[in-house]
Amino acid sequence: MKTAKRLDNIPPYLFMELRNKIAKARADGTDVISLAIGDPVEPTPKPIIDELCKTAYIPENHCYPTDEEKGMFKFREAVSKWYRERYQVKLDPAKEIIALIGSKEGVHHFAMAVVDPQDTVLMTDPGYPAYRANIFLAGAKPYNVPILEQNNFLPVLSDISSDIAREAKAFYLNYPNNPTGAVASKKFFRELVEFAKTYDIAICHDNPYSEIVFNKQERLSFLSVEGAKDVGIELNSLSKPYNMTGWRIGMAMGNPDIIAAISKVKENVDSGVFNAVQYAGIKALESETQNIDKMLNIYEKRRGFVVDTLNSIGWVYIPPNGTFYLWIPTLNGESSIDFATMLFEKASVVVAAGSSYGKYGEGYIRISLTVSDKRLQEAMQRIKNVLK
Ligand SMILES: *Cc1c(COP(=O)(O)O)cnc(C)c1O
Repeated sequence: MKTAKRLDNIPPYLFMELRNKIAKARADGTDVISLAIGDPVEPTPKPIIDELCKTAYIPENHCYPTDEEKGMFKFREAVSKWYRERYQVKLDPAKEIIALIGSKEGVHHFAMAVVDPQDTVLMTDPGYPAYRANIFLAGAKPYNVPILEQNNFLPVLSDISSDIAREAKAFYLNYPNNPTGAVASKKFFRELVEFAKTYDIAICHDNPYSEIVFNKQERLSFLSVEGAKDVGIELNSLSKPYNMTGWRIGMAMGNPDIIAAISKVKENVDSGVFNAVQYAGIKALESETQNIDKMLNIYEKRRGFVVDTLNSIGWVYIPPNGTFYLWIPTLNGESSIDFATMLFEKASVVVAAGSSYGKYGEGYIRISLTVSDKRLQEAMQRIKNVLK
């Protein structure tokens, strides 16, 4: 069967090769610990599960999701309230919010809604691999905007040539940043709005880690700066703050024209999120924020533990203040892949190679803090044994 050419440009999803090696090692009885994927092991809080169970018994919820394609109005109101309380952002639930099947879905639909074939679309490098993939799926061309440690992993907008900026239709970025853990500031978001206005670029700020910040870092929405709604949208998700990655519920917010365009795409692709999952989402947003504090405590301890272990073997590293990832330079300038392969072969620990997030990710590895304390301790002990 001949499949579509647009798929040919998409690199294999991270670790396809490694996945085979891992499967083989596990089949041979090796206890492999993966620190490569960001997916919390702690369960979804019980009240959220209870709400799902309760609402799943109600026959009306078995039909296609009600209200409109934008999601239940009640869900959008809960999002609006959450954004007002957590980020001081005002959103009109009727026009400026749409429910999504996770923010990853929004990454795709934004491209479908805004980007034409042959367009140039900016994305950060390193960057979340779904940006590049969806730029290709839209038939467009990605342009890598480097985010470097010397600039606190923020793009230097003035370094983007005006030719490229004029050509660009859209820009994908994400702070607190996966993979680097970097956080942005209001000052940066203001510059971004200016830049987007100057060159007429639609911004897709993907913000699923808005709640995962440390050391009293301010929780920040791109939409909290003036003019942001004129130039773009923000994606967010219940996946990370509420340990709900498997539930598939998120939201896009901001520019009403882009939200309407995404709604038009969605009408023709899916029929929305299961009502019971939306009710569970409302429960999470309205009354489970203490889960976020609980998880932040857990991640903070794990961060400290990993950093202390690395320091104890002379691998000095100071993490930025966001996300549950640690983006760590390899030892002795080794390549990401060589270093990750060595850790896998000698310690049976899987880490993500920085180069799989783009060429400016070369020289780093990414460790996720979403495994249990016990597994993380075991993994770090093994790494220590190999490196000391
Ligand atoms: C985890 C993640 C997502 C996906 O979130 P879902 O809401 O579960 O689809 C999107 N963007 C980034 C940067 C992520 O790390």
